[in-house]
Amino acid sequence: MLRVLVVGAGLTGSLCAALLRRAVAGPLYLALWDKEGDAGRMITAKSPHNPRCTVDLGAQYITCTPHYAKKHQDFYEELLAHGILEPLTSPIEGMKVQEGDCNFVAPEGISSITKHYLKESGADVFFKQCVTQINLKNNKWEVSKETGSPEQFDLVVLTMPSPQILELQGDIVNLISEFQRQQLASVTYSSRYALGLFYEAGMKIDIPWAGQYIASNPCIRFISIDSKKRNRESSECGPSLVIHTTVTFGATHLENSEEDVQKLITQQLETLLPGLPQPVATKCQKWRYSQVTNSAVNCPGQMTLHCNPSLVCGGDGFTHSNFDGCIASALSVMEALKNHI
Ligand SMILES: Cc1cc2nc3c(=O)[nH]c(=O)nc-3n(C[C@H](O)[C@H](O)[C@H](O)COP(=O)(O)OP(=O)(O)OC[C@H]3O[C@@H](n4cnc5c(N)ncnc54)[C@H](O)[C@@H]3O)c2cc1C
Repeated sequence: MLRVLVVGAGLTGSLCAALLRRAVAGPLYLALWDKEGDAGRMITAKSPHNPRCTVDLGAQYITCTPHYAKKHQDFYEELLAHGILEPLTSPIEGMKVQEGDCNFVAPEGISSITKHYLKESGADVFFKQCVTQINLKNNKWEVSKETGSPEQFDLVVLTMPSPQILELQGDIVNLISEFQRQQLASVTYSSRYALGLFYEAGMKIDIPWAGQYIASNPCIRFISIDSKKRNRESSECGPSLVIHTTVTFGATHLENSEEDVQKLITQQLETLLPGLPQPVATKCQKWRYSQVTNSAVNCPGQMTLHCNPSLVCGGDGFTHSNFDGCIASALSVMEALKNHI
């Protein structure tokens, strides 16, 4: 039986897993490990008071350009057919709209996209499994994690941000050529914070828009009434809000405590939306690797670190930071693996 490990349960990893399941005809054991308790940057947090009150803390909506509408048509059709994506109908003030673009939201939360692919993959998904070392033993990959015994695989796909690939120890350190190391090191990311606010059922937030880009605040770049953005306003659960900071604020306060950062965001929010009611719960999320600002040069979609056995890297660091960037990377990973599965 072919044993495959995908590291990272974000959009690229979950897509790679689903595509591998569809492509491998013979017996396949597919495992997916992620160091966090949630799947990547497309996450939806739940209120501790009401699991139906949710907020998208990372990606907000999917913008489909005419180019990708054609190129990735099957992916869009599948998610629309399952009701995982719906057209964005609520107003987002300050959003840059290019002619021909379509915007979609995930009514059940943006994490429903990765959950769909994880389910499709039938993979054994393990959260809180941080990969620490990758060694080559008897022509197989022996992968070590922070806790538990190492496990052996015939093929490994890494989908974490490039700096986290470079942190891995073991034989992988020597397998990465100097040129590849430079390519991986050249990938840069912006950093931001996101603050989610959950409100009680019945609470009204009297704002005409579902989202707004803020041009002139040093701390806050984007605010969304998440429940309204996703067309999921209901009397049974309260509204939810998400605030994204500017990149400059994110970089300046990257090493501060989340508590201190939350205070600063809350103060600025009060100046932008005075008189907002008190939330019943909050969630502050640091995005150290938020969006790719420079992707890996000259390695479109993926980077092959080793063939036979295969060790391939994918993720938005090899394309660009959005839904289509992750699909493009997952397809390139599959292309690189096609003769080995
Ligand atoms: C604030 C914000 C707003 C955004 N807005 C949008 C938007 O509106 N529309 C859009 O299309 N995109 C948006 N994006 C970008 C989009 O979310 C990303 O491009 C996409 O989610 C990247 O997916 P990925 O699978 O490549 O990486 P990730 O989602 O980062 O997944 C990588 C995974 O690897 C795991 N990992 C790392 N190291 C290890 C290890 N050693 N062992 C095990 N697991 C490990 C991580 O925990 C993580 O879950 C936004 C992103 C952010 C942060």
